Amino acid sequence: YDPLSAVDPEVAEAVRSELRRQQSTLEMIASENFAPVSVLEAQGSVLTNKYAEGYPGRRYYGGCEYVDVAEQLAIDRARELFGAEHANVQPHSGAQANTAVYFALLEHGDTVLGLDLAHGGHLTHGMRINYSGKTLNFVPYHVRATDGRVDMDEVAALAVEHRPKMIVAGWSAYPRQLDFAEFRRIADSVDALLMVDMAHFAGLVAAGLHPSPVPHADIVTTTTHKTLGGPRGGMILCRQEYAKKINSAVFPGMQGGPLEHVIAAKAVALKIAASEEFRERQARTVEGARLLAERLTGEDCAKAGVRVLTGGTDVHLVLVDLVDSELTGRDAEDLLHSIGITVNRNAVPNDPRPPMVTSGLRVGTPALATRGFTAEDFAEVADVIALALQPEPDTTALAARVRALADRHPLYPDL
Ligand code: PLP
Repeated sequence: YDPLSAVDPEVAEAVRSELRRQQSTLEMIASENFAPVSVLEAQGSVLTNKYAEGYPGRRYYGGCEYVDVAEQLAIDRARELFGAEHANVQPHSGAQANTAVYFALLEHGDTVLGLDLAHGGHLTHGMRINYSGKTLNFVPYHVRATDGRVDMDEVAALAVEHRPKMIVAGWSAYPRQLDFAEFRRIADSVDALLMVDMAHFAGLVAAGLHPSPVPHADIVTTTTHKTLGGPRGGMILCRQEYAKKINSAVFPGMQGGPLEHVIAAKAVALKIAASEEFRERQARTVEGARLLAERLTGEDCAKAGVRVLTGGTDVHLVLVDLVDSELTGRDAEDLLHSIGITVNRNAVPNDPRPPMVTSGLRVGTPALATRGFTAEDFAEVADVIALALQPEPDTTALAARVRALADRHPLYPDL
C-alpha cells in the first residue's frame, strides 16, 4: 500500500518529469489534449482491479454491480450526446474500435474505400502493413491537387469501379469538414456501408460546431482522448441493427476484459462534453486554429515558403506545407521543440521528402484551449510559430514568449 514514489522512484520521477514537461511547454499535437483531474481520478481508481467480461447486466464474472453502473452511464451518455441508437464503449483504443467494425461487418478480402494515409487518412484506413490493409482490399481515395480538399468525384468514380462493401470517411490530418451526406449518397448508390471515423473531430461534433456524421453513417467510431478530452480509448456508435454484431466483435471477438477504470473515465468525459463549458472550449479550439491559419498565410510566411494546406481550417488543426521552405518537417518540428512548442511533422500530399523527414507540420489547438487559451493567446502563439519558421529566427526571444504563455495558464496546479 506504499505510494508510487516509495515503491518505484524511477517511474515516479518519469511521471513527475512528464507533468513538468506538460506544464512548461505548449502542447500543439492535434491528437492530444489534457484530461481533467476528474477523468484522471476515475482512470486511476480501483475499477482497474475488476474483471467484467460481457456487457452491463450480462457479465461472465460476479461482483460487477458497480462497474455496471459506470459502464451503463458511459453508454447512455454517449448515445444521448451524439444521438446514436447504440454505443459500445469498450474498445481499448481508436484502432481497436475500427478493427472491431471491420471484423463485425466485413469478410476477409472485401473491398473498402478509405482516404490515403499520405493524404490524411489513418493507419487503420488500409495502410499496407496495418491489419486493415493486410486483411481487406482497401482502395485509397485522395485530396485534390488543386485545393487540397477530398475529391468526392474520385470517391464516386472509385465506388462505381470497385463496388466496395464499405466506405470509410474520416481522417487524421485534414483541416476541413467532410460532406457526410454526399458520402451517404455515394455509399447508397453502390449498396455499401458507410463508416465515419470521427476520432479527431468528435469534440467539435459534441459541441455542435461540426456537422454530425451520426444521421448519415451506419457506424461511427471515435477515440475519446482527442478533441473529446477524455481518457485514452475508443468507442463505437451505430444503428440498432448492427448493435449485436458490433458488441460481439468487440467482446469476445477482439478483446477480453474491458478496462472498466477507463470506461468510468469515459463516462465522466462524456458528462463534461455535454456542458456549456465544453462547448465554449471547443469554440476557442476552432478559433485558435483559424487564427493560426490566418497568421501562417501572412506575407512573411509566403516569402519563407511556408503555406497552409487548403488555405485555412474549419477544425482544430492547421496543416503547414513546407515543400517550398528550406525547413523540412523534421527541422521545423525540432525547431519548435527547442522553443517549447510540441507539434508533429506530417507528410503533405505528394510529399517530395521521405516519410521520416516530410515537408509538413500538423499543428493543433485542443490542448491549449483546454488550458484556457483565449483568442489573444492563440494570436500570440501563432505569431511565435510564424516567426520561428522564418530564416534565422531569434529562438531565445521566442522561447521566452512561449514560457510567458505557459506561465499565464498554469496546468494541473494541484498535481
Ligand atoms: N482513427 C483516427 C482518425 C485517428 O486519427 C486515430 C489516432 O490517431 C485512430 C483512429 C487510432 O486511435 P488510437 O491511437 O487510440 O488507436
